Amino acid sequence: MRDLISIIVPCFDEEEALPIFFVELENERKALPCDSEVIFVDDGSKDKTPDIIKHIAEKNAGVRYVLLSRNFGKEGAMAAGLCEARGDYAVVMDADLQHPPRYISVMYDAIKNPKDGRQIDSAAMYRTGRKGEKRIRSFFAKRLMKRFCRMSGIDIPAGATDYRMVSRRMLDCYLGLSETNRFSKGLFNWIGFDTKWIPYENTVRVAGRSKWSFSGLAGYGLEAMLSFSDKPLRYAAVLGAVSCVLALIFAIYVIIKTIIWGDPVAGFPSLFCMILFMGGSILLFLGLIGRYISKIYMETKRRPLFVAREKGGHRETKETPTGIPDGTEKS
Ligand code: UDP
Ligand code: MG
Repeated sequence: MRDLISIIVPCFDEEEALPIFFVELENERKALPCDSEVIFVDDGSKDKTPDIIKHIAEKNAGVRYVLLSRNFGKEGAMAAGLCEARGDYAVVMDADLQHPPRYISVMYDAIKNPKDGRQIDSAAMYRTGRKGEKRIRSFFAKRLMKRFCRMSGIDIPAGATDYRMVSRRMLDCYLGLSETNRFSKGLFNWIGFDTKWIPYENTVRVAGRSKWSFSGLAGYGLEAMLSFSDKPLRYAAVLGAVSCVLALIFAIYVIIKTIIWGDPVAGFPSLFCMILFMGGSILLFLGLIGRYISKIYMETKRRPLFVAREKGGHRETKETPTGIPDGTEKS
């Protein structure tokens, strides 16, 4: 039996990029040595993306879609697509051609024919450069990623993307994870098995614009860090302990100084600085602890990761003549 690859494409306001993307994707699908299906997930777009997706699904075999009830973010959209996947392998890729479709066969080959004969369950792409990206953004993105990985003990290369192919058993493990705060790169790493990382030259978005603002990206990085690591809490404790020791040493110094020279008023500015520093760090770490508590709060609600308002498309993966819907039962 031929393998089936499910290709999941989360889309949010991608009306300009989608038609160009789909032409390239179809070329790659035809060249694949196995069957494939495409699952478009519209993540609550405000433009014509849902109409374009439906049109594509109507005219092409093996294309299905899920329309979400609102914007749930890329993680939610990815989860929606992965839930729908029926394939032996699943691929997640962006709709803006920043994840070139030609690498689907490269990843498939890497999984099917591992070089050292060791079974691998996932092949994932990492960017070797950040061409076309604002310098300040790539600087912080790189820094954040490095720090995040070090803090949470996650082993992924710099430039790791969400463009990856996973086996059915790895996908089932992923779908079995019930947490609401999701950071897929970290989750796949946590699941384990063997992943082959493949480098590729970064490409610029074909049309439209990135949905990530600088602050959005920074927030995403922080959330990812908090959901994978409790080290910030440990840092708070260490800082508290160090401050106590310093305060004690300073107090001894002040007492001795007063006994010998008798100068009780001097040191007021340093006292002021210390109070300010301590007050600031207490508030900072209270805020951090608050973030963890709010995460626990959100997790206890057990809300679904997404809400779908419509599903459809052809389950059949064989080619149908363009423009003539074959009346395949809608799912
Ligand atoms: N995306 C999504 N929901 C969102 C934001 C983005 O489904 O809330 C999709 C988007 O349509 C694209 C992919 O996720 O297919 C990557 O988004 P984008 O290109 O904006 O991110 P970048 O490549 O700049 O990191
Ligand atoms: Mg992009």
